[in-house]
Amino acid sequence: MGHHVTLDDLLEQLRSRGDRVTVARRLVLAELLAAGSEHRTAEGLADRVHRRDPEVHLSTIYRTLDVLEGAGLVVRAGFGDGAATYHLASDHHHHAVCDSCGAVIELPSDAFAALVRRLDRDHGFAARPRHVTIPGLCADCRSA
Ligand SMILES: [Zn+2]
Ligand SMILES: [Zn+2]
Repeated sequence: MGHHVTLDDLLEQLRSRGDRVTVARRLVLAELLAAGSEHRTAEGLADRVHRRDPEVHLSTIYRTLDVLEGAGLVVRAGFGDGAATYHLASDHHHHAVCDSCGAVIELPSDAFAALVRRLDRDHGFAARPRHVTIPGLCADCRSA
């Protein structure tokens, strides 16, 4: 979904803000790009990055994610009481999340198209839903 962004685009955005492109920043962005709409935890990213550069440690990953989030390149999303997860800000999508077991269903970027049209028509409001989370119960938990 919406994978028109390249690693070079992301690095250019970082440079244009005056942020340096470090090895860790490059590797984290490359991993998030490869992850697509899937979310990654800091630990999950650290594991993957560590395989490519053993010098990059978890503490660096945390700092790197803070910088990338501050730069608007990365979105942090926490579901329920689970660990914070991350994905690229350029990957537009939403989720339905089970209140009971935490199961996550990915929804496409246009999931709220009817609501967006209605807000425009009835209120002149230009809605831009970003990473919306819909709470509820998954099929397993409903039948439990
Ligand atoms: Zn998400
Ligand atoms: Zn559930």
